Amino acid sequence: MEKPIYPTTTMRITQGYEEGTHKNSYAIDEAGKTTAISKIRAPFTGIIKKIYQNDANEVWLESVDKVEYPDGTIDYMTIMFAHSNDVSNLFVGKRINQYEEFYSEGTKGNSSGNHCHFECGLGKFSGSGWFQNASGFWSINNAKKPEDCLWIDPNMEIIDNHNYNFKLLVPDNIETESPNTSNNLENNTPKPPEQKPEQENKEEQKETKFPQLIFVCPKTDLYGIYLEKDEELYLKKEL
Ligand SMILES: [Zn+2]
Repeated sequence: MEKPIYPTTTMRITQGYEEGTHKNSYAIDEAGKTTAISKIRAPFTGIIKKIYQNDANEVWLESVDKVEYPDGTIDYMTIMFAHSNDVSNLFVGKRINQYEEFYSEGTKGNSSGNHCHFECGLGKFSGSGWFQNASGFWSINNAKKPEDCLWIDPNMEIIDNHNYNFKLLVPDNIETESPNTSNNLENNTPKPPEQKPEQENKEEQKETKFPQLIFVCPKTDLYGIYLEKDEELYLKKEL
């Protein structure tokens, strides 16, 4: 089952949900690494359900299957993207693969700089896809918080995560909390190791720290790890 991934490789959220033009919605603005136009990748394998060219070239993508949300929900997901300057290569019914760069940031619609406005919704595309909320802004049906919908991959560069606690996607379904930026220290509590000591070597284990398995090499290769001073690294080899 697919885990929906955050749609850019660099996270720089310039407007969070409930802020400004996102009042009464769970929309966020993602501006990418630079002020230039960044590509937007599909969070999941999906089908384009609607394109609305009269405003900000909004595109709705619905997952082909149920996906695994970071909050544990298993359901379909629909996501709406906005502001691409050009959607001429897209059409309703087009299938997009997960990770495929199919959309772009832009300035079409009410936008002052290149970015992509997006909002996730629980379940399949429904009705007209959106509704005008109490603040007069258009919001996706069944909107859900982005950090409860999207995973971030380990290579993600985070410039501004708006203090949202996105979950980190690591191989073999081992989940850890997302890396925190320096202004987010209150969430920076390490998880205790999950291994339970076995009864028979109680004595021995008192002396030893229990390594927490954080990564399983998908293949034999050279791997690089950046370590901070005094950090400890444990490796485990399966025999
Ligand atoms: Zn926006």
